[in-house]
Amino acid sequence: MCIFCDIIEGKIPSATIYEDDKVKAFLDISQVTKGHTLVVPKKHFDNFLECDDETTSHVMKVAKMLGNHILKETGAKGMNILTNVHEVAGQSVMHCHIHLIPRYSEQDALKVEFQESEKQDLDALCAQLQYK
Ligand code: AMP
Ligand code: ZN
Repeated sequence: MCIFCDIIEGKIPSATIYEDDKVKAFLDISQVTKGHTLVVPKKHFDNFLECDDETTSHVMKVAKMLGNHILKETGAKGMNILTNVHEVAGQSVMHCHIHLIPRYSEQDALKVEFQESEKQDLDALCAQLQYK
């Protein structure tokens, strides 16, 4: 059984800030920054890439709505909106969720940094990744 399914079913308590028939949004227990929130579909999907289209649309709509609401209420200056897929990307709970992480300063506990890595052949990569 999945911990977020337990939260959705009310077996485990959560600090819920929004709920409808398809989605529950609650404060992340770790509070990377003040107001850190998880937007979670009620139907179990292992991760974001597994979600059906209807669920994806609704989850993202709610994430946008709550993102704006949290920004306004906390006075944060920005927000990271992210989802991790599989352990290698940092996923620890295998039930789809979107993190809303308000940002107050560049020194917040979250660091998202794009570093230089090995050069890629963009023409070859583009040919490989063309979506037809
Ligand atoms: P991820 O590592 O992207 O899978 O995110 C999972 C998140 O779930 C982490 O940020 C945890 O702090 C959070 N989390 C785990 N258990 C709970 C819980 N019982 N209530 C609220 N958040 C939780
Ligand atoms: Zn689940």
